[in-house]
Amino acid sequence: MKIICIGRNYIDHAKELNNPVPKSPLIFMKPSTALNKSKEMPYPSFTDNLHYELEVVLRIGKHASPVSKEDALSYVSGIGLGIDFTARDIQSRCKEKGHPWEKAKAFDNSASLGSIVEFKREYEKDLEFHLMLNGDKVQLGYTKDMIFDFSTLISYSSQYFTLEENDLIYTGTPAGVGSVKKGDKLIGYFNEKNLLEVSII
Ligand code: ZN
Repeated sequence: MKIICIGRNYIDHAKELNNPVPKSPLIFMKPSTALNKSKEMPYPSFTDNLHYELEVVLRIGKHASPVSKEDALSYVSGIGLGIDFTARDIQSRCKEKGHPWEKAKAFDNSASLGSIVEFKREYEKDLEFHLMLNGDKVQLGYTKDMIFDFSTLISYSSQYFTLEENDLIYTGTPAGVGSVKKGDKLIGYFNEKNLLEVSII
């Protein structure tokens, strides 16, 4: 399986990192070894600025190559929350040099994934999600604010990359990203339901 991630899909987040708002989806990938379904995230040795990015995650249910926007949602088999962990210090250096982001984004355990629940089409326009860090609400997002909706992301990605059963799409983070340290606890809520818990160890 592979993990497709979308960058800058919420205007407020693009602005907080001083990035331009993209005209087409910004895509990068993480390998299967990045997936972490456990409740513990080991702080990587190579960064001093590990950031959380809470994202709505789509699970693909069947082979898609390529699919139209109209058909796209029928390829989704589940939905949940994940954290796109990012070594922000390394990413900044990659960006300065115009290098790829993999070292900053695709390292082991960089894709936390919580519980997957049944997908409903209404979530594309009507879903609230938020992240608590040690009891404080640090991120709040609504899927209606996505620059590119689920259908567009699936269809667009499938023009380049065949999607297969159990592939995951991390659909981008809203504003409020920030750093974590060892001992921190993150909890992600999906329409007020706790679907994700991660402790930094
Ligand atoms: Zn992200």
